Amino acid sequence: MLNKIKIMESSIEKWEKIIAGKRSDSGVVDCPPCRIYYMLACIGCPIAWYTGKKFCKGTPYPAWLHHQIQAHDKLLKKVYCDECVTLATEMRDFMAEIRDALKAEQAGETVKDGGKNKPHG
Ligand SMILES: [Zn+2]
Repeated sequence: MLNKIKIMESSIEKWEKIIAGKRSDSGVVDCPPCRIYYMLACIGCPIAWYTGKKFCKGTPYPAWLHHQIQAHDKLLKKVYCDECVTLATEMRDFMAEIRDALKAEQAGETVKDGGKNKPHG
């Protein structure tokens, strides 16, 4: 569990840098949890654990991806406009939410229903 919290911290850091315009997003290639769990079809991934869905469904990621393709259609997925900042921030916040849920779970609090069934998008 500690390890998963660290993975989510890396993911938060990734999105912080995207928001700051310091890096781009390469999806599964540079997503810290994906790099470990994607090949296993998301089994054990903290994001899939939290949303109850695979391939980042139920997260703000599809909206980010859709916006990048529809509005910018560039090779690099990064911040190009205000909407990009908003969507990347939502992603960062969602990653932080999962990290907090992992911490709570580790602390022995029951977050199962409260966390998993929160509506997102
Ligand atoms: Zn944009």
